Amino acid sequence: MADEVTKAQTAHPSGDTIFGKILRKEIPTNFIYEDNKCVAFNDVSPTAPTHFLVIPRKPITGLSAAQEEDKEILGHLMFVATVVAKQQGLQDGYRVVVNNGPNGCQSVYHLHLHVIGGRQLGWPPG
Ligand code: AMP
Repeated sequence: MADEVTKAQTAHPSGDTIFGKILRKEIPTNFIYEDNKCVAFNDVSPTAPTHFLVIPRKPITGLSAAQEEDKEILGHLMFVATVVAKQQGLQDGYRVVVNNGPNGCQSVYHLHLHVIGGRQLGWPPG
């Protein structure tokens, strides 16, 4: 947890990100879903039995950087999260999280939805 906070406090928007490399297939990653607007893949450091990310192909740096013209893609990401959650067998529920900025613990500056499930989650988050 402390590591995640430290990572988030030192991360900042920059030209390219690890997710850009994943999208360009420079880092081999198994996409559990893809279409012309977004892809989904498992988080490398899962916090629950199921933990995947849904990211737009468009390199929006974070939720607060989204523009009016991005409304459709934001809705699309949420819908895809539900489709993939169903495919992954999360019928008992799951959590969708968007970390935004240093205080929100964002460490990768390419917008992404975390979808977390497969166990009982606690609330509130830290
Ligand atoms: P955030 O802290 O919200 O920016 O989340 C970034 C997430 O990306 C973390 O949960 C990381 O574990 C995850 N992550 C970083 N690199 C990779 C990678 N190569 N493949 C999959 N997930 C990654």
